[in-house]
Amino acid sequence: MTAAAAEDLDYLRAPDSQGTGAALHAFVTELYPICRSITGDGVRATLDILRRSLPITVHEVPTGTPVFDWTVPQEWNIRDAYIKDGEGRRVVDFKASNLHVVSYSTPIHETMPLGVLRDHLFSLPEKPEWIPYRTAYYKKDWGFCLTHNQLTALKDGMYEVCIDATLEDGHLTYGELLIPGASANEVLISAHICHPSLCNDNLSGISIAAHLAKKLIGMSLRYSYRFVFMPATIGSITWLAANEATAERIKHGLILACAGDPGSSTYKKSRRGNAEIDRAVAVVLRDSGAAYEVNDFLPYGYDERQYCSPGFNLAVGSLMRTPNGRFPEYHTSADNPDFVTPDALADSLSKVEAALFLLEHNRRYVNRNPKCEPQLGRRGIYRALSDQKGDGRHELAMLWVLNLSDGEHTLLDIAERSALSFAAIRNAAALLLAHDLLIERTDRIL
Ligand code: ZN
Repeated sequence: MTAAAAEDLDYLRAPDSQGTGAALHAFVTELYPICRSITGDGVRATLDILRRSLPITVHEVPTGTPVFDWTVPQEWNIRDAYIKDGEGRRVVDFKASNLHVVSYSTPIHETMPLGVLRDHLFSLPEKPEWIPYRTAYYKKDWGFCLTHNQLTALKDGMYEVCIDATLEDGHLTYGELLIPGASANEVLISAHICHPSLCNDNLSGISIAAHLAKKLIGMSLRYSYRFVFMPATIGSITWLAANEATAERIKHGLILACAGDPGSSTYKKSRRGNAEIDRAVAVVLRDSGAAYEVNDFLPYGYDERQYCSPGFNLAVGSLMRTPNGRFPEYHTSADNPDFVTPDALADSLSKVEAALFLLEHNRRYVNRNPKCEPQLGRRGIYRALSDQKGDGRHELAMLWVLNLSDGEHTLLDIAERSALSFAAIRNAAALLLAHDLLIERTDRIL
């Protein structure tokens, strides 16, 4: 990465300095009305919007394609759905919220008594104003989700039930974008794209990934960056099945999900637990000065279940704010554009950028003057730094870099061990390098 490009990935830049949060939030709001599922036109419509500003390749994988132990399912598309009472009034209307229909519901158009219909209705008694989000991907069934207030208002009688949907052979659709860098080694950024009108779980990750991709295009990069926008679980399984050789090039990766709520940042480590990405994100969160959590890997959640399956064991972690299932709005109509905030979205993006900055700049150096300390004052760099800031932190960073630059330790190692920020360590290394006190060790891959 060039110096100019590095400035663009400014380390832990103050959020929203350029209206980034507003742009991220506006994108969430634009994508919000689309009825997405694991297949179908909602995914295509979402990718079409992403393709306005990104050269994403759209892949269509036919129904029935075997992908490891799974099979690409039939494609689901929905046009309309409702429950009408005896007077013909729509008491539940898909057009009011796409969450009203259980995703992947089989088509139906029948009239039935409430007693029969009730088995297909789902509500949240503890949150009577919210619509739950439910799916029936892998079992043929149908259902409606409604607020508990709507449910309790239904009177005995006959209801006309219509789900005007198709479930038939078609395709699974996903989007992919490779931004080439100097190395063929890749960083994977993965966002799922299968949730309907839900913001934190789904759209926050899509928006942040898209904005990140736009920033990286045209930069001079060390790594190549692969962005994937695909349905959770079946999408990553499909991608991995078709890209086993490519997966070997993925050296680091992040899943972006639940990244826009006002809670503090949470990082879930890869299965490896001590991969460079795990350590990089932990240092970024530490350096941010804000509250955060780092959690161990758990084979539950999003696509880490596939990327970190033992046959791949990729170094892919998940950057979130409040994790899935730990906020009451999760998988309900309350996960709406009001729940995600511009500041939180911008903050999550800046932390992803900081982690990538760290990966781009993590190096191993050799101290060219290893026998006792070099005389920094004679070179004018000891005093120069202490003039800038009187707390001695910059001098300490130089001393740490000189001491640990034995060809074994990386700048990330030094940032961890010194408890100084990665930015301070990297700046110190740059200064020492400029004074010929360090030489980069390039014969060893990090
Ligand atoms: Zn979800």
